Parts: sequence; C-alpha cells; structure tokens
Amino acid sequence: MAVPKRRTSKSVKRKRRTHFKLNVPGMVVCPNCGEMKLSHRVCGECGQYGGKTVIEAKDEVEE
Ligand SMILES: [Zn+2]
Repeated sequence: MAVPKRRTSKSVKRKRRTHFKLNVPGMVVCPNCGEMKLSHRVCGECGQYGGKTVIEAKDEVEE
C-alpha cells in the first residue's frame, strides 16, 4: 500500500484546507415573507411556493 514519504507540514495542510469551505446551499430570501429559505423549496415560514400557498404556515396549524 502506498504510504506518504513525508509528513504533511502544518503549513501545507492549512493551505490545502483553505479550499474547504462551509457553504449553506442555495439560501434565498422568500419573496412572500422575507425569511431565508432553501431555493426551489417551499418556504418553512409562510408555506408559499411559486406565489401559491402550498402548505399551511406552522403557526396557523393547530392540533
Ligand atoms: Zn416565506
């Protein structure tokens, strides 16, 4: 099995990891309520998608 000849230095390791970034995928502002939501998903706050109410908003659901 291939084994690294040299230990990767802290500097090289850290330089490589500059490309590892946290990213929150496809967050957009909801056009209806202004909350952040995932694009192409129904808004969790107001339940709207594509200008229509798809699901009831969570604070309107009472059980
Ligand atoms: Zn919304």
